[in-house]
Amino acid sequence: MSENGQTPLPVPAIVLPMQWTDTECFDAIISRDRRFDGKFFTCVKTTGIYCRPICPANKPLKKNCIFVASAAAAENSGFRPCFRCRPESAPGSPAWIGTRSTVSRALRLLASSGGQINGLPDFAARLGIGDRHLRRLFQQQLGASPKTVLQTERFRIARLMLAETSRPMAEIAYAAGFQSVRRFNDATKKAFGMSPTAFRRKVQKRCGGQTTSALKLTLSYRPPYGWDEMLSFLEYRALSGVEMVTARGYARTIRVNGSSGILQVHPIRKEYKVEAIFHLDKPAGLLESVQKIHDLFDLEASPDEISAVLRRDSFMASIIKGKPGLRIPGCWDIFGSCRGWPANQCPGCHHNSGPSGG
Ligand SMILES: [Zn+2]
Repeated sequence: MSENGQTPLPVPAIVLPMQWTDTECFDAIISRDRRFDGKFFTCVKTTGIYCRPICPANKPLKKNCIFVASAAAAENSGFRPCFRCRPESAPGSPAWIGTRSTVSRALRLLASSGGQINGLPDFAARLGIGDRHLRRLFQQQLGASPKTVLQTERFRIARLMLAETSRPMAEIAYAAGFQSVRRFNDATKKAFGMSPTAFRRKVQKRCGGQTTSALKLTLSYRPPYGWDEMLSFLEYRALSGVEMVTARGYARTIRVNGSSGILQVHPIRKEYKVEAIFHLDKPAGLLESVQKIHDLFDLEASPDEISAVLRRDSFMASIIKGKPGLRIPGCWDIFGSCRGWPANQCPGCHHNSGPSGG
């Protein structure tokens, strides 16, 4: 029996390499340490739920916790996402941190292709290895197969849309990469024990039900974040007619997987989140777009670890002093990378250099 008198749920064993010990993970969840947000998840054996380290719910006993490196590993073992901390909105793809290069490349390829792969053998061949070897690497490093990782990513997008928008089910299924609404319904019931409609009702009730008809998603990052430097960099190099930086944030035209429209990205600084608003002719390519936002704004960075390394060098230490949370701006696409980053242009330093946009 568990501490609350209920019979513990059956939980499959999870064998996963973790970067931290159980004690370090437990200390992180007790202090709700944002530095660890998205880097591991806590599976609670007595409830069958998995959580982010920053979850505001009452903390479980340490003996009831299993710490895993990815949401895919938690879901693969039968755990369901918590309605309080909503693991789908954790800072991006923790699985990429600490994984060896082949798995990291595979995850990047999965994300950049919007989850569209022509079978595992073909996908593995693009990475220069066999599919059995790829499956083994995923199992060793992420505790889940490539298929499960991809499915978890699809659910992540679907759950974000269910929780934060009032968009119809067919659109959500399509946007998240499911082939049909029926498949989406079946997969959701199997994974979470409830239909998408029931999930939406429950999560919106728990989260205050602030939804919108716009396609608007929020993505978290680990603080601090140097927004002034990032927006200043993007503003100076904005591609005319494509990108715009305003007092609220960033906007651009996009075309992804046959879907085109406008994307707005607004930082919500006090909540360590960005709000991404899509105005698309059809909701295709959302998985890919969300990854591009992560890349463009470097949302997956761990600023504490980066500054700890940079501070070891006196020159770099003097540059980053007083500018916490500097990020490396990414590119939306290859064309965007042509805006050019000469060596004398770094975020926040554009006054030293001439124009390079376009
Ligand atoms: Zn939680």
